[in-house]
Amino acid sequence: YEVLPVNTLAAGPQPEYEMSLIVHKYGGTSMGSVERIRNVARRVAKWHAAGHQVVVVPSAMAGETNRLLGLAREITPQPDARELDMIAATGEQASSGLLAIALQAEGVAARSYAGWQVPVRTDSSFTKARITSIDDARIRGDLDAGRVVIVTGFQGVDPDGHITTLGRGGSDTSAVAVAAALKADECLIYTDVDGVYTTDPRVVPEARRMAVVSFEEMLEMASLGSKVLQIRSVEFAGKYRVPTRVLSSLTDPLIPLDEEMRSGTLITFEEDEKMEAAVVSGIAFSRDEAKITLLGVPDKPGIAFSILGPVAAANIDVDMIVQNQSVAGTTDFSFTVNRNEFARAVDLLKREVIPAVGARELSTDEKVAKVSIVGIGMRSHVGVASLMFQTLSQEGINIQMISTSEIKTSVIIDDKYMELGVRALHKAFGLDQAPAAKA
Ligand code: ASP
Ligand code: MG
Repeated sequence: YEVLPVNTLAAGPQPEYEMSLIVHKYGGTSMGSVERIRNVARRVAKWHAAGHQVVVVPSAMAGETNRLLGLAREITPQPDARELDMIAATGEQASSGLLAIALQAEGVAARSYAGWQVPVRTDSSFTKARITSIDDARIRGDLDAGRVVIVTGFQGVDPDGHITTLGRGGSDTSAVAVAAALKADECLIYTDVDGVYTTDPRVVPEARRMAVVSFEEMLEMASLGSKVLQIRSVEFAGKYRVPTRVLSSLTDPLIPLDEEMRSGTLITFEEDEKMEAAVVSGIAFSRDEAKITLLGVPDKPGIAFSILGPVAAANIDVDMIVQNQSVAGTTDFSFTVNRNEFARAVDLLKREVIPAVGARELSTDEKVAKVSIVGIGMRSHVGVASLMFQTLSQEGINIQMISTSEIKTSVIIDDKYMELGVRALHKAFGLDQAPAAKA
């Protein structure tokens, strides 16, 4: 059927917002069943009826990507990466087609596209490809014809025409990239939580949703282990300055648009919007850490490189690094790695590094955790880190390593005190009571 041009659709109460181009992203839980897909369609139809142009980027239905990858691993433990992408990409293709059908059932003209049809171009790193460009012509053509456009999340096509995927959680990145390519007014990431919290509410029940978080804080929190958004999507949002909002897909799909636009957490680039916010905005933590110390290594130029060079060459990410004062020509050298790369790192040190540099002893601790305070307010306030150290000491928690950047301070502590430390810090920085950020 014929669809009226969008600007003639604004019947009924005047929409609160000017006509705009909005990208919606729905995660696996939000797309998890036919009933949920219907709800997504109702929500999208509401936006469309208010006169907005809408592009939707869905994930695969919950569990589907795991199921598909699991089938391949039943055949062989290390399946070919190109074929894994071929398989995994079908999850998003199915959910996108289903959403188009659900929208059509709501009376909304809709059309879905796989990544290669747009195309969403990527490099050739199968299972972890990076988007290089997105052609907006086809999407625009459909939007101008009044259609809702659905673009599969998570996938693209490489220069040779092979299907690629962007790494687990990659449809966040697809959505922000599509929003950047279209210069969308906002990218709305609908998910099963209602925003970004000052810390994980499962650890600190007093945690609060932030109405606004700065892009830089979000980037730190994503890199420190907050799982709300894939870190690459935050990088993309920053690079192209895409206003991005994280909000719940589990609310009534027909809630008024202005209410919806006040919910969730807006990732902002305007720092003054956050000026009166707390000095520390959030507490991040991660148990994925392991600590490795080489005791009594000869202290001479090149020592850090002779230890960490081989580690980097083996593709093991090193996080915190501490080298002690040297005593009688030798020093102790500690660093942390991701816990699931710990065994590989230790093996490498024993086989290659220690025989070459000559260390007295190797000491390791797999049971450490990293706790970080994050806030752009740290730039202009002194004594923030010392309040962190004081708070931990009052709880009797020993700090093993410290690292700082302009807007965060991280410490390594014993894993068993992690939750205690996070709760104490959340309270000490006033995140328990006051809203974490002004709306
Ligand atoms: N379906 C993909 C995954 O499960 C991508 C995503 O959901 O963001 O990782
Ligand atoms: Mg996700």
